[in-house]
Amino acid sequence: MLVDNHNRRINYLRLAVTDRCNLRCNYCMPSEGINFAKNDKLFTLEELARLASILVSQGIDKIRITGGEPFVRKDLMVLLRHLAVLEGLNEISVTTNATLIGPYIDELKQLGITNINVSLDAINRDTFERITRRNQYDVVHDNMLRLITEGFNVRINFIALDGQNTQDILPILELTKHFNVAVRFLEEMPFNGGSRSFDTISWDYKRILAYIKEAYPEYYQLESPSTSTSINYKIPGFKGTFGVIPSFSRTFCGTCNRLRISATGDVITCLYGKPKMNLRDILRGENSGERVKEHIRSAIGSRAKTGFEAQQENRGVFKSSMTSIGG
Ligand code: SAM
Ligand code: SF4
Repeated sequence: MLVDNHNRRINYLRLAVTDRCNLRCNYCMPSEGINFAKNDKLFTLEELARLASILVSQGIDKIRITGGEPFVRKDLMVLLRHLAVLEGLNEISVTTNATLIGPYIDELKQLGITNINVSLDAINRDTFERITRRNQYDVVHDNMLRLITEGFNVRINFIALDGQNTQDILPILELTKHFNVAVRFLEEMPFNGGSRSFDTISWDYKRILAYIKEAYPEYYQLESPSTSTSINYKIPGFKGTFGVIPSFSRTFCGTCNRLRISATGDVITCLYGKPKMNLRDILRGENSGERVKEHIRSAIGSRAKTGFEAQQENRGVFKSSMTSIGG
């Protein structure tokens, strides 16, 4: 079992499989992209599978595949097939922009990988294109509806971006009236590859909730697992639910159970901190199984208590892009 220096059990791994992406969301990276890692700096699929097996043997029982866009890796299903039969792994989920997932939906269902987070920050084509800088709205919308109607457990992640998409908050919430889907409103974080820095946000979770309350005063709070980052709600009579994720306000750090590993092997114990170490060469070296375990234990043994503490250690400077961290 992995337990950190604040007595929090770490059982949830967010594993990035690439830092590349076919969209250019403006809150995530600049229009020209970032300096994407060279191929030999990225884990191979075999390495990712081995890393996952090692960590599951240490007590990780939930893995979320993220990126960059996970489905830009053509061989992603090879990894997912491996994870689907990994003993001790109870939950596999994927976070995706849903542009490329279409051809894989049937196999994902067969493998029992039904927890899919779709990042969608607009329910209007023009807004989507302004934010993502790409014209993929129709394919994303179609894939999202297909996932929902085929019975996947879909959660839509919508970042509330001042001056860009807040007019879509109520329309996207309407999806929960007709479909059993969870729409979660996220606060923007300052990981955009250096395009914009900020110390405060205009749309924090309280403002999002107050805004929704004006339209739906009767919504009520649901019970959520203690490690959940989202606070969840339901509007009476609606099929789905909605939630807010205070990712900038950081109200959930006390129960954080997460470990992040980037596609290049950085070990990240808090989004707001610096990577603790890099595992790539260790995994490629001798006696790698034992050495990876030792390094992971040491990283987990020196975690910041909160995102604010990690930010201080980081001297508050954020140049990274979420496409390299994995979200
Ligand atoms: N490409 C996939 C996607 O967009 O779902 C997976 C990777 S993306 C980096 C993972 C998550 O991070 C997405 O839900 C995205 O909305 C979120 N994200 C990216 N940049 C962010 C930022 N600056 N603030 C908050 N969330 C961000
Ligand atoms: Fe790509 Fe996801 Fe970043 Fe958008 S948020 S640019 S889809 S990695």
